[in-house]
Amino acid sequence: MNQATVIDGVAVSNKLRHEVSTRAAELLNKGVVPGLAVVLVGDDPASAVYVRNKVKACEQHGLRSTLDRLPAETTEGDLLNRIAELNADATVHGILVQLPLPKHIDSHKVIEAISAEKDVDGFHVANAGALMTGSARFKPCTPYGVMKLLEAYNIPVSGKQAVVIGRSNIVGKPMALLLLEAGATVTICHSKTADLAAHTRNADIVVAAVGKRKVLTGAMVKPGATVIDVGMNKTDEGKLCGDIDFPSVVEVAGYATPVPGGVGPMTITMLLVNTLESAELFAAQNEK
Ligand code: NAP
Repeated sequence: MNQATVIDGVAVSNKLRHEVSTRAAELLNKGVVPGLAVVLVGDDPASAVYVRNKVKACEQHGLRSTLDRLPAETTEGDLLNRIAELNADATVHGILVQLPLPKHIDSHKVIEAISAEKDVDGFHVANAGALMTGSARFKPCTPYGVMKLLEAYNIPVSGKQAVVIGRSNIVGKPMALLLLEAGATVTICHSKTADLAAHTRNADIVVAAVGKRKVLTGAMVKPGATVIDVGMNKTDEGKLCGDIDFPSVVEVAGYATPVPGGVGPMTITMLLVNTLESAELFAAQNEK
């Protein structure tokens, strides 16, 4: 019986994080400490965990991070003022506002207020546009992490058929653009797609970014294909699980990512990489 190679996101992530530590130490020799400012508004428990993990990862790899924990009642104006301060702060090379924001705050306005040069999430329209034209300064962390996983396992992308399930601005769309840039023929599927399996069965690479369990089963996968699971859901028992039916998928696929331990660790790692690269650019500009 076929058993797919399980892609080890923790191992790939650790290797990249080691490189981040080395490059951060080199920057320190030039007197620059890469700095990430994280802003959390409100007390959503999941967001608090994500933010804590991001801050911790910075500390472990030679980056400086600050965390602004603002109350849920924070006004849009106060948040925009805080972002303006961080934009002007030369010790801050990356700004991350944790989403979702409380309903009374316009997320789009907030993202656009972050200086595009410090938008390490890559969500600002200037960065989204740059990604679309193949000149991204910051690639959105999750799709960027997926590309690094494919690279680490020498999985060919150019000339291949890729299907991305999900079309969000954060994952699906930038994922499709990165695969396209790497030479894949890309199909984007979503909730209105009439026959998902007809698309996925022809795909050499499938990336599932939906947020629903068992969206992709083994019967929907082409033998030997690479299946990347971005989803983060809970089982009935409350355990973390992805979008794919892992047991049936590994019987057909050539490669598959698990949840947890696949894409998840890569997202924070690519945030570290983007922040580090922003600081490197800053240091290079100051050397001139
Ligand atoms: P999202 O904004 O809710 O987008 C979900 C997408 O899935 C939408 O485009 C939606 O289509 C599509 N969809 C819904 N039901 C579908 C179905 N039955 N068949 C095909 N497509 C369907 O979610 P997101 O922010 O992109 O996140 C997706 C998942 O990735 C979530 O589980 C999230 O928690 C996870 N995530 C993980 C990481 C990580 O680090 N591992 C990072 C970010 C997100 P429509 O556009 O037509 O509604």
